[in-house]
Amino acid sequence: MIFVSVKNTNFNNFISMIENRTFDLRQNVMIKEHNKSVNSDIVIIAIDDATYEYILDKYGEWPLPRDVYAKLVDYIEMQHPKSIAFDLMFVKSMKSNAKADQMLIDMMKKYDNVFVSMNLDDQSPDLRTPPVLPEDLSIGLENKSANVSFDLQTYTNCRKILDGILNYSSNIGMINVTRADDGILRKMPVLVKYQDKYYPQLGLKVGMDYLNIKPKKLVIDAHSNLILGDRKIYLDKDGSAILNWYGPHETYEYIPMYKVIQILNGKHPDIGLDFNNKIVYFGTTASSLFDIKTVPSSKIYPGVEIQATYVNNIIDNNFIRRLDRSFTIFFGVLLAIITICIVMNESSAFVGSLAAFSVYLLYVFGTYYAMKYFNLWIDIIYPLLLAIITFISAYIVKYLIKSRDFEQQYMLATTDGLTDLYNHRYFQEQMRMMVDASKRYETSFSLIILDIDFFKKFNDTFGHQAGDAVLRQVAQTLKKNIRSTDIACRYGGEEMSIILPKTDHEVALFTANKICARVSSKDFRLPNGRETSVTISLGVSTFPVDGQTAEELIEAADKRLYNAKNNGRNQVGE
Ligand code: GH3
Ligand code: MG
Ligand code: MG
Repeated sequence: MIFVSVKNTNFNNFISMIENRTFDLRQNVMIKEHNKSVNSDIVIIAIDDATYEYILDKYGEWPLPRDVYAKLVDYIEMQHPKSIAFDLMFVKSMKSNAKADQMLIDMMKKYDNVFVSMNLDDQSPDLRTPPVLPEDLSIGLENKSANVSFDLQTYTNCRKILDGILNYSSNIGMINVTRADDGILRKMPVLVKYQDKYYPQLGLKVGMDYLNIKPKKLVIDAHSNLILGDRKIYLDKDGSAILNWYGPHETYEYIPMYKVIQILNGKHPDIGLDFNNKIVYFGTTASSLFDIKTVPSSKIYPGVEIQATYVNNIIDNNFIRRLDRSFTIFFGVLLAIITICIVMNESSAFVGSLAAFSVYLLYVFGTYYAMKYFNLWIDIIYPLLLAIITFISAYIVKYLIKSRDFEQQYMLATTDGLTDLYNHRYFQEQMRMMVDASKRYETSFSLIILDIDFFKKFNDTFGHQAGDAVLRQVAQTLKKNIRSTDIACRYGGEEMSIILPKTDHEVALFTANKICARVSSKDFRLPNGRETSVTISLGVSTFPVDGQTAEELIEAADKRLYNAKNNGRNQVGE
């Protein structure tokens, strides 16, 4: 089976890369059909290009002094948002203004619905001593799945954020991402592992807060689902959830951050602000700030929108579930069986191919609708590959069976059943071809015709069964004494003929005499066990001296055979 025997990882990687592309294609068709829309409870306040310009202009520096964020939060909190999340890291080591930082820290202490982010990495511990993180940032995990392991989400270092936040807030989530080999981000870890503890993704914290789920520990069931209340989030084997995408970038309600800053500064731009009960995400979209990734729906997709999509998938419960390998094998085998049925039952190769490829097309559409209506990712490439290999093999087998049948038919049509020599029709055909070829290449060929002596009497004496046995043994004697290129035929009754290509009269006479002698000296075994002897008479003719056509050559050989009979039989006629 292809799934088991193909151990070549390059091949598997190649296939999974194409499979991933089919996922992207399905997602994009779904988006084009407008059947998915983002959750309107999520709003993004974006540090876009215009905001970046505004900040440099007004504050003369980037990063923005952190008190501005504190003031923005104060303003938004007045409208009672569900939560505010920063896809921004307030890193300790960055150029900072202690007073402004303190305002941010105070803000974090004031509100329990504000979330900030942190990132783990694999930088060498030689460069930085990995910090120990506060106990309540991590969460317990009970992993009952044999498939899910967080090995690929295990990091050795941590980029610390302001101590004032780190030590006093548990609303800190990780923003690590998972990228495929082709660089496209299709999934995100739910947890990341650091110093043997599990740290939730920022989006997971925000989503659980929205759903009012506050588990002491997280549970992954035996079927690789992360249990969140009554929701089950399917996890890939590296502990990532596969995201369902809603569109190219800027599908969420976007508000450029500078407009909110303007409000703080007394201006009133019309932005139709309403943060009540919403999840407000802060993040960068400005191209100069480089938080841009490639996702299935867009080549340029801001990190904050990935976070928003992640939260969206949690609260709308529509992460993608990828069916596991046993289903892939099942669908592959099913397609293969259908293929075999079609190929074997359909005599027209054109109709057969059409039917098989219609089934494959139907399968592809089926996988699309499974994703559209059930959020299911059913593999396309491996099952189709198996089906197509089966299709080709089935046609090869069918062709082989056909050609074997043909060979059998051909043999039946050209040989004589009693003697296994070629039959009269084949003899005539070969004679004509031999005449044509010999004329064209100006070569000679010879013909021997032979007849068993007194065979009527033999039959009358020993019976027809014995006559048949003798016929068979004479035929065998012929075959044994001619070249493999010579063609021995049963001319009719007890007469036989031999065509000897590229053979002159002298050699043909020699062969005829040899056969005559072998037959007369042979003991013929009869069905009753007794042995007897028979003789034959022969006539030889040669192209072109004895005739220019098959008829003339047969007539000439016949005449000499008649002479042999008249001359006392058991000889080659003159
Ligand atoms: P001659 O030496 O002049 O050839 O005498 P003959 O008896 O062989 O001559 P004739 O051609 O008159 O007889 C041919 C006989 O061959 C007639 C028939 O009984 C016998 N014969 C022809 N075909 C078969 C066959 O398939 N099986 C058997 N057992 N006998 C056959
Ligand atoms: Mg005869
Ligand atoms: Mg005879």
